Amino acid sequence: MKAAVMEAVRKPLTVKDMPDPKCPPNGVILRAEAEGICRSDWHAWSGDWAWIGLVPSMPLVMGHEFCGVIEEAGKEVHNFKKGDRVLVPFSQGDGICEYCRSGQSHVCANPSIPGFSYWGGYGRYVGIPNADLNLVPMPEEVGFLEGASMGCRFMTSYHGVVDRAQVRPGEWVAVHGCGGIGLSAIHVAAAIGANVVAVDLDDRKLELAKKVGAQYTVNGKRSEDVPMSVFDITKGGAHVSVDALGIATTCRNSVLSLRKQGRSLQIGLTTQAEQGEVQLPIDRMVTMELQLIASLGMPAARYPSMLQMVQSGKLNPKAMITETVGLDGASRVLEEMTGFQNVGVSIIDKY
Ligand SMILES: [Zn+2]
Ligand SMILES: [Zn+2]
Repeated sequence: MKAAVMEAVRKPLTVKDMPDPKCPPNGVILRAEAEGICRSDWHAWSGDWAWIGLVPSMPLVMGHEFCGVIEEAGKEVHNFKKGDRVLVPFSQGDGICEYCRSGQSHVCANPSIPGFSYWGGYGRYVGIPNADLNLVPMPEEVGFLEGASMGCRFMTSYHGVVDRAQVRPGEWVAVHGCGGIGLSAIHVAAAIGANVVAVDLDDRKLELAKKVGAQYTVNGKRSEDVPMSVFDITKGGAHVSVDALGIATTCRNSVLSLRKQGRSLQIGLTTQAEQGEVQLPIDRMVTMELQLIASLGMPAARYPSMLQMVQSGKLNPKAMITETVGLDGASRVLEEMTGFQNVGVSIIDKY
């Protein structure tokens, strides 16, 4: 199969023929039709995340944000067959641990992530284990581009905003960082009736944030004090604040943007600079009764609720997509991520 292959850290991916995957008895072979290029790919490509055990073994076919059509289903698969169009949540479970059995497969005791645990959607064919648990039927009216965009960033933000932070209509939500996760969080929060303030350093990203639902924007380059700017706009602080990037500044600013009893939603994992450790104003969190809530992916079982909002037009994952590329265009997108130059979501749709 043709694939864009990572053979060395921070070096351009090589587009070449790789061995086809084998079909697991309880899994499927999926023909990938579209694949989002996520900042998590950039972290893997940059050799980040060793401290959480995510060391890529090369050659690696990355890609955890894809959808496609089933080419072959294993003998033990009951719910899917050849020809089915499916979405692929990146947070996948083994189906047997206590979390999977209670519908929380995204925090499985033995998780697997395509593009990390096995070869992912930067290749034309992907062998996906535990298909009955880990795949989601894709409605006819959902196209492959939006389907791919629902594999990681969009669903992660949906689960974070709806299930974890439990944003309510009329609340103020401040979103720090307007990459794919941040734009999705803005879009979902606005769709359920929250008032959203978008924060970023790049006016182009803030423009897109407005298009997908933000009512107010703060450019951190022009604001002397981002949390104070959020306080001014929200007249006393946000009810919910989201760190959608995962660096020390956005994590702290998220907590500092909250009014009393506010909830800070941490979505992004940190970078090489933090290695998972960020200083937080604990006394302020105690005296203001603030909450820090973390969120990781979303179980396949929660997709129907999100898909109903997509089908009814309340959510439009396509609005975040700004470009499509071929396999040979993926390296350029990764390189641009180093300098935060990309605006919106880039998708591979030509294999
Ligand atoms: Zn991702
Ligand atoms: Zn499990």
